[in-house]
Amino acid sequence: MRPIVISGDPVLHQPAAPVSSFDSALTELIDDMFETMEAAPGVGLAAPQIGVGLQVFVYDYPEDDGTPRRGVAVNPELFISPLEIRETTDADDEGCLSFPGERFPLVRAEKCILRAQDATGKPFMLECEGWFARIMQHEFDHLLGYLYVDRLEYAFEKEAGKIGKKRGWGSRERLKPGISWMPGVDNLED
Ligand code: ZN
Repeated sequence: MRPIVISGDPVLHQPAAPVSSFDSALTELIDDMFETMEAAPGVGLAAPQIGVGLQVFVYDYPEDDGTPRRGVAVNPELFISPLEIRETTDADDEGCLSFPGERFPLVRAEKCILRAQDATGKPFMLECEGWFARIMQHEFDHLLGYLYVDRLEYAFEKEAGKIGKKRGWGSRERLKPGISWMPGVDNLED
């Protein structure tokens, strides 16, 4: 288990580096990420969120019928369908463990294709739809150095900025290193 860093930490706001060696250190990182994601609890977690600037994310989001859908994406590429031009609704509410306890709506692509490597370096491809596609886009953004709050409509962006300031968190424009929370201890995402 590792602490989850909060908005403002530089590692969250810069592009992550590709993974070049598929060794035991990577396996250990991935194990820690699954453990931290489960404890948070969350449906996805990217390495920068535990302070590691590498292109790795994990996800755990069962299909509608309960079939487990859990995995890791290393050095991913993401191809998304065109964004619908429309107003956001409550069904678009998204959250992030690095901006804990809050939800804001954001239009995402309905479909995407993920191409990535697994923990051993083997390439794979995933076709994603709906909420699962949203998770992929959210986690992929983390590896580009973007939080979902960086992509909000103006009014929500302003609100998120206010909340962040009030809590003493930083942002993309105002870095503030070293703020984190510990899943299972701080319970910020209950
Ligand atoms: Zn996030």
